[in-house]
Amino acid sequence: GISLPGTVRRLGSPALTMPGPDAHKYNRGLVVVIGGGMAGASQLAAVAAARSGAGAVRRLAIGGMVAEPHAIIQRRAEQGDAVARELEDERIGAVLAGPGLGLDQEAGGRLTAALGSGRPLVLDADALTWAAKDAALSVPGGSILTPHEGEFQRLFGDLRGSKVDRALAAALRVGSVVVYKGPDTVIAAPDGRARVASGGSTWLSTAGTGDVLAGLAAGRLAVTGDPFRAACEAVWLHGEAARRSGAAFIADDLLRALPAAIAARL
Ligand code: AMP
Ligand code: MG
Repeated sequence: GISLPGTVRRLGSPALTMPGPDAHKYNRGLVVVIGGGMAGASQLAAVAAARSGAGAVRRLAIGGMVAEPHAIIQRRAEQGDAVARELEDERIGAVLAGPGLGLDQEAGGRLTAALGSGRPLVLDADALTWAAKDAALSVPGGSILTPHEGEFQRLFGDLRGSKVDRALAAALRVGSVVVYKGPDTVIAAPDGRARVASGGSTWLSTAGTGDVLAGLAAGRLAVTGDPFRAACEAVWLHGEAARRSGAAFIADDLLRALPAAIAARL
């Protein structure tokens, strides 16, 4: 467990809303997931975004698997300029880069296009590795970052204090919401707000669960337009999907648990 300073609260269950009568797929939130060589990771993220309450998901792939082809539009976009063209669509409410992105030169080009797009961003996994090693790839303010311990260390170095202190310092440094993952997940905003989620299922310590969280964050960002709120909702839904999935689940099981987890908060 973690000891909480006065302004830090435990993460509560969010109040979610139904799509209104005027809802259509684009005003409910359009998410773009930028994929790469590890197709499974961006696939998990894209399906999580689609099951987060968002209206439409596009996955930019470099080939390979097609996830949920009836629900997710997949387009081939290998080079940065192709990604940049896809991100010109002003209806886009969130862009996710990182899960399965890759660390080769073309992946760097795809990430550069995302960072320069001006669209709301969620950065995870390889995008965080890129940002840590290449000063030219700096994180635009107003983003959501979802580092695990290793990614956090690479990006922010050895910060002092509790996990909450370190998450808040990191959020201030990048002007973005930082979701510092682990057995205790801290969600920190640059304005000093922080929430702590602890006591979650330890079965989450398995491959692909982080990709699901990143997809949820992108989906809720496209729905709400508010990075801190979106991060809190995503962490809660992720934990609730895990609780509903019992034991020894795999990341795909979380995806199936999402619709009922969302229904419980309407
Ligand atoms: P990643 O490290 O990117 O694969 O993400 C793993 C996900 O599982 C994050 O959401 C973590 O917070 C969560 N997680 C990993 N290990 C544990 C644990 N022992 N207890 C609770 N949640 C965990
Ligand atoms: Mg990860």
